[in-house]
Amino acid sequence: MGARILERPLNQVGENASLALPCPSCGKEVRYAGTRSKEFLSVLGPITLVRRYCLCSSCHQGFFPKDRMLDVEGASVTPGVLRMTGIVGAELSFEKGSEFLWELAGLDVSPKQVERVAEALGAEIACNERTCLEPDPVTSLPSTLYLGPDGTGIPMRREEVSGRSGKQEDGSAKTREVKLCVVWSAETTDDQGIPVRDEGSASYTAAIESAASPDTGQGPSDFAARVLREASRRRFDHVVRQVVVADGAPWIWNLASEHFPRAIQILDLFHAKEHLGDVAKAIFGPDSEKTLPWIKDRHAELDDGKIDAIIAALRIYAPRCEEARKCIGYLETNRHRMNYPEFRAQGLCVSSGMVEAGCKTAIGARLKQSGMFWSLEGANAIIALRCAKLSGRLEPFFERRAARRCA
Ligand SMILES: [Zn+2]
Repeated sequence: MGARILERPLNQVGENASLALPCPSCGKEVRYAGTRSKEFLSVLGPITLVRRYCLCSSCHQGFFPKDRMLDVEGASVTPGVLRMTGIVGAELSFEKGSEFLWELAGLDVSPKQVERVAEALGAEIACNERTCLEPDPVTSLPSTLYLGPDGTGIPMRREEVSGRSGKQEDGSAKTREVKLCVVWSAETTDDQGIPVRDEGSASYTAAIESAASPDTGQGPSDFAARVLREASRRRFDHVVRQVVVADGAPWIWNLASEHFPRAIQILDLFHAKEHLGDVAKAIFGPDSEKTLPWIKDRHAELDDGKIDAIIAALRIYAPRCEEARKCIGYLETNRHRMNYPEFRAQGLCVSSGMVEAGCKTAIGARLKQSGMFWSLEGANAIIALRCAKLSGRLEPFFERRAARRCA
């Protein structure tokens, strides 16, 4: 009944035949060429709209003025359903999304349709992310901003990884790496005075794309360009202290040094500890009773910034354990990024696990569920959609979109 009530005014509006419309492509006059009806899924259920069809006598483009006016051009759903589908698609598998739309809103949207609509929306958001560099609205800029790039693999459809080298035993790949950039602030402190991430301060941007500079020209890599866009949206250049927090991957530090030369580089303490834990398991075996006490001692040394003590402890096992040798190299290379007592004295946040958590929240929780296999295009669209939602940018996107259509 609601749909029938909605249908009526929508079928009456904007159908004034005396209105002379210009062609949207060439601006010349158009002629009226009959009516066509089409079913759209609205928040109240399916509605049938009868729309005037106009044809340009100059460039022969046809269009529906009403579709344009109601923001349903080329679509099968209304903006309200688009928004709902986008939100479930960002959070849930397409099957679950379809189920929730039915259970909560009585909307019959098949999983395939959820996929199509959410991916089209995500592609639009991804495109918008590249062009819209307007800074996020903020009430006050924090004195310190943290920027954390990272990577995580997601399972891909077989045809998307054929010919790519990967970590499988035969050298093939099953996954592709999503590269993510999280930006957050940590101005609040806990009851012990340790800085913790400010609620709602994290923004995310990610894609499956290259972090290697293109062979031709001197421009930044696709991922570096993404990081720079995010930094500009977050006004990273305007804060007193810039901090880059990351794991040990050299490509991340290269990117940080090149594009944010004044940033303090911190190797995420959470990640460093995790790494030492893995090395201990390699040295003693996972079930040895020596493993846990050894890890505990090394973690304490790490907290105290005693890198030389850790290296000395590793040297004992270096001759017979490759992991121990590698870890010494890792500590030597990243020594200046592990000066945790000094960082703490400066009031910096060193042990957030924020970057790791960012990968899990933004990517893993949605894209790494069992039975999911992604196409490159589909994954990048859903990643863009999810990052926009988690960063609080979905509403502003819809507002801008509506304003643009109205103009
Ligand atoms: Zn025309």
